[in-house]
Amino acid sequence: SAKWVKAMEIVKDFEIKCSTPISRLRQVADGMIVEMHAGLASEGGSKLKMLVTYVDSLPTGKEKGLFYALDLGGTNFRVLRLQLGGKGHGIINQQFVEVSIPPSLMTGDSSDALFDFIVAKLAKFIAQEGSDFKPTPDRQRELGFTFSFPVVQTSIASGTLLKWTKGFSINEAVGRDVVAELTKAMERHGLDMRVSALVNDTVGTLAGGRFANNDVVAAVILGTGSNAAYVERASAIPKWHGPLPKSGEMVINMEWGNFKSAHLPLSEYDLELDAESLNPGDQIYEKVMSGMYLGEIVRRVLSWLAQEAAFFGDTVPPKLKVPFILGTPAVSAMHQDTSPDLKMVANHMKDIFEISNTSLKMRKVIVHICSIVAARGARLSAAGVLSIMRKMGRDTVKEGEKHRTVIAMDGGLYEHYTEYRKCLENCLHELLGTEVFKTIVLELSRDGSGIGAAILAASHSKYL
Ligand code: ADP
Ligand code: MG
Repeated sequence: SAKWVKAMEIVKDFEIKCSTPISRLRQVADGMIVEMHAGLASEGGSKLKMLVTYVDSLPTGKEKGLFYALDLGGTNFRVLRLQLGGKGHGIINQQFVEVSIPPSLMTGDSSDALFDFIVAKLAKFIAQEGSDFKPTPDRQRELGFTFSFPVVQTSIASGTLLKWTKGFSINEAVGRDVVAELTKAMERHGLDMRVSALVNDTVGTLAGGRFANNDVVAAVILGTGSNAAYVERASAIPKWHGPLPKSGEMVINMEWGNFKSAHLPLSEYDLELDAESLNPGDQIYEKVMSGMYLGEIVRRVLSWLAQEAAFFGDTVPPKLKVPFILGTPAVSAMHQDTSPDLKMVANHMKDIFEISNTSLKMRKVIVHICSIVAARGARLSAAGVLSIMRKMGRDTVKEGEKHRTVIAMDGGLYEHYTEYRKCLENCLHELLGTEVFKTIVLELSRDGSGIGAAILAASHSKYL
């Protein structure tokens, strides 16, 4: 019918606008490398902040003692404790609790309310500590704070918030030292603890990865948002005017989610999503790649199909108009539905959108839309990984030189969305060629961000 033809035109047009041929991905990577240099050259020199993290030495595996971490950065936050055994013993014991953050606190007016909520959970966690964890007597408890938003650090344990991302927006916190805010909240709760390290989740993941594997040199997060960190030569950071670290190295938090380039394939659905978001114009790369947004992009395409091509019948099902009603886990479940009649797709359309009349033919189109969105995201993240590899000089294999490059990966999107992960790896293989690709390992580092923060708290302990 004419409506079906119209629907197929809309899908085809979307597919073309999202296409990521290798040539384009190379342009994206080239653009990112230019921005990396600019961001390292001067503060504010690029959309890529390339933040100096004050982490100039990564864990060695010899860290020892009981340390804590708070991991705040997306939908959930975690409190954890880690008993480190010292050289050769690794992590002896670990426990965590995970709490979802009430949406009212994410966009409220008061940063005190958010920090009070977090510290209340932390205090409870400490109060319930069992005897299987051994704090050192007469020592203040020490904590690594994973705070996964762009922060300009002034030392390993202080830094001011530049802006919120990923659905957070509490104006008064911008420009404040987040460690001071956390410390004040601890004082209000009578909790005696010291924040020894403030780290981004990428940096935590890199540190946690290195603790377990000496070949880890970068970390990529694909969760609610997306970001990356890597080990840079300190002498290659012109904007760094501090003393050159002994190691000669400095971990850089790229804040790559804010990357933007004319080469990024964007559709009108992405532009509208951005325009209606809490942070229009910001985090464009993140908005086409990460878990917070992929479902919403698919919803917008389906909604347009309903409106312009009567894809679901003569009226537009009202639920299709509700922003963020379709989560990325549902996209991944529909995309990876292997049943012959696409039962999972039918169920999700019914449960989420109250659409019960889908034919098999329609379900196939829905799966195709999910695959377009996932493939674009995965391939663009591969381009990002390529730029890091190139910046580190690890994109070639030199005669007689043997190195392995391990990238610690974390985030629910990477962990659970198998097709996305496979697509990323295949694309990286294409971009690097087999010989180089063989020297690379993308290693899932589950919850590495919190673990890494606790380990960095250990390596920056005041009792060392
Ligand atoms: P955060 O990034 O907030 O620290 P996670 O790393 O746990 O949290 O990532 C959560 C994100 O992962 C969610 O926003 C969701 O979009 C995505 N996600 C979780 N499970 C799945 C899944 N099964 N398939 C696809 N994406 C998923
Ligand atoms: Mg996380």
